[in-house]
Amino acid sequence: MADQSDQQQTAAKTAGQEAPARTNWFDGSQWAHLIAADVLRYGPVSRTTLAGYHGLSQGTLSRIAKNLMIAGVVRETEADARTTNVPAYLSQAAPVDRTGRGRPQQNLEINRGAATFIGINVRAESVRAAAVNVACELGGGGIHTCSLEDTEPGTVVKAIATVIAKCRADVRKRRLDQPCLVGIGLGGHVEADGTCGYAPFLHWDQPVDLAGMVEKECGIPTRLFNNISSYMRYMQWFGEGCGLSDFAVITIGAGVGYGLVSGGRVVETPGSSYGLAGHILVDPDGPRCFLNKGHRGCSQCLTDESLALEYSTMTGSERTFEDYARDTRNPHKAQAQNLRSREGHRLGVLISTVANLAMVGRVFIGGESSWVLQGEKETISTGISDFRPSQTPKVPFTFLDEQSMLDRRWVLGAATEVIRQFVLGSADLSVD
Ligand SMILES: [Zn+2]
Repeated sequence: MADQSDQQQTAAKTAGQEAPARTNWFDGSQWAHLIAADVLRYGPVSRTTLAGYHGLSQGTLSRIAKNLMIAGVVRETEADARTTNVPAYLSQAAPVDRTGRGRPQQNLEINRGAATFIGINVRAESVRAAAVNVACELGGGGIHTCSLEDTEPGTVVKAIATVIAKCRADVRKRRLDQPCLVGIGLGGHVEADGTCGYAPFLHWDQPVDLAGMVEKECGIPTRLFNNISSYMRYMQWFGEGCGLSDFAVITIGAGVGYGLVSGGRVVETPGSSYGLAGHILVDPDGPRCFLNKGHRGCSQCLTDESLALEYSTMTGSERTFEDYARDTRNPHKAQAQNLRSREGHRLGVLISTVANLAMVGRVFIGGESSWVLQGEKETISTGISDFRPSQTPKVPFTFLDEQSMLDRRWVLGAATEVIRQFVLGSADLSVD
């Protein structure tokens, strides 16, 4: 451990940056890490509730809580226990415990300012980053963007170094500890050793050790993740999926993303980072798959590039996705309205397919182009019901963000992954 820390310090000195802090919040039992994670995700929460859920005695839980308080991980709060966005077992709990000695025992909350992290999202045209605290809150700095002239690994690393420097400046301004971990999310496959094996948007088909290159350049321990898995993790730890055991997310934008939480776990399989929902039939009369796979009306027709091509064909002149998106807001542009209705129905068909096969009760819609369809809830509902037995319960679908907030979740997702590692430490990371 000391060796590793020394290496990090040396790397930081080499890079001329401030020394990174620890990558593991505290040393403790697996229970201590799990309790800390629960306090982070669901706090304020009572000791009684945590003990009851984990099957621990009050005495054991009190000892764990005391050690976590000494380590500066959790603290007592006068606030009542949270009752929204928490699992049923927590929401049913009494807000305040009594020790039996007449003294009310306060609820526990996480020490959210104890450390900072940087989340980064790499896209084909830019990288985006933000510094967050332990609760994945942005603070004052907001999201920094650096454009990419090309997608060569060296260019991407330089852009990442630029946004990391801006995040560090944010943290310094707020007088917080310097970031201890960087999480990077990208659309592609991340191998078990943390290297990127395939990233179609970046045209990478050879292994790239992006995290290693960034760590060497910036002197902060860095980890790489698939962007959809990270998005799901954010949804589950800090977002609308917090406390839900089963839900799916569909994202639309440059590509079509799909993620699933089942039984309280993010479903990750060897194939799940290759865009499994990218070529599912959603419209037999739709355009040919623009990726030239030969099929017609696959879910690629929900992507920006395909919509731009389709709108160009409809209008007889070259149009960009931005033209289409803008025209959908103009009541005089009937072709844009028509295309948007078709797009809404297609998304409904995709939601139906997901809900029917994965048997999830709730679907969230995200991604940078999803805002265009927010006025198409009726056609989306029709698309869902057209391919679902009429006796089955309706599938609630929820748009996650307004237009101005659309890039936030990808960045926060990458940060969530490293926060999760920081809190769970060496505890079983298969625990969601
Ligand atoms: Zn296709």
